[in-house]
Amino acid sequence: MRFVTKGIVLRETDIKETDKLLTVLLQTGEKRTVLARRARSKGSRLAASAQLLVFSDMTLFEYRDYFTLDEASTIEQFYGIRSDLEKLALGCYFAELCELFAEGDCAPPWLLSLLLNALFALDKLKKDPNLIKPAFEMKLMSLAGFAPLLDECCVCGKSPPEQPRLSLREGTVRCANCPSGEEGGISMPLCEGSLAALRHIQSCDPKQLYSFRLSEPALRLMGNASEAFVLAQLERGFKTLDYYKLLHTSASYQASPKPQGISPGG
Ligand SMILES: [Zn+2]
Repeated sequence: MRFVTKGIVLRETDIKETDKLLTVLLQTGEKRTVLARRARSKGSRLAASAQLLVFSDMTLFEYRDYFTLDEASTIEQFYGIRSDLEKLALGCYFAELCELFAEGDCAPPWLLSLLLNALFALDKLKKDPNLIKPAFEMKLMSLAGFAPLLDECCVCGKSPPEQPRLSLREGTVRCANCPSGEEGGISMPLCEGSLAALRHIQSCDPKQLYSFRLSEPALRLMGNASEAFVLAQLERGFKTLDYYKLLHTSASYQASPKPQGISPGG
């Protein structure tokens, strides 16, 4: 059966002499492994579309759950990302996160537009990657059902909490001086601004996701807390994230504070 849809390549693997195996997130709400025959041969009509993070109109042929890319024409190649190694690395991390949240063949309906909007903000809007990364991470986590409770201190109820800290496992905020409920619970420091930004990310229309400003120190706190939250909640690391951080040598990350273990009563 042939069908026409749109899709973005989350992963590409070279196979045989000239073929590629693609992991594609489709507009139909599916994640599929798709064979792109001769995509690496000279003059291939599929070459441009069979690249990582390229969004295309696709004609797919399906036979017994095997998918082949018959025809494709690019809609958006995100040249600004492709030409910048650090942005490309960040885009690959976003793609790996999306792959994780598209369990099996089925992707949540919001996932494709969330990814496209992030790549658009990174490429066309030239937004600060230090803002895009935590905003994407936390919106993804919220929409996927991992939203932290940010309204008030989970211990004393104060809103906003004093010198707020985000508890990574519990997904709650509390005042720095309120005791941690869980033995050995790890938390990351926030500030009033970074906590307000996290609330905005959680509640905003996805179209408004990147339309906020934050001071450099607040952005750094939010970025460190967000990344630690993702890793703690998902209980795994990401090679693409490690690579991005290797490239991302800006002072903001070199100065990142270590997470602080809180012992009961401490
Ligand atoms: Zn408190």
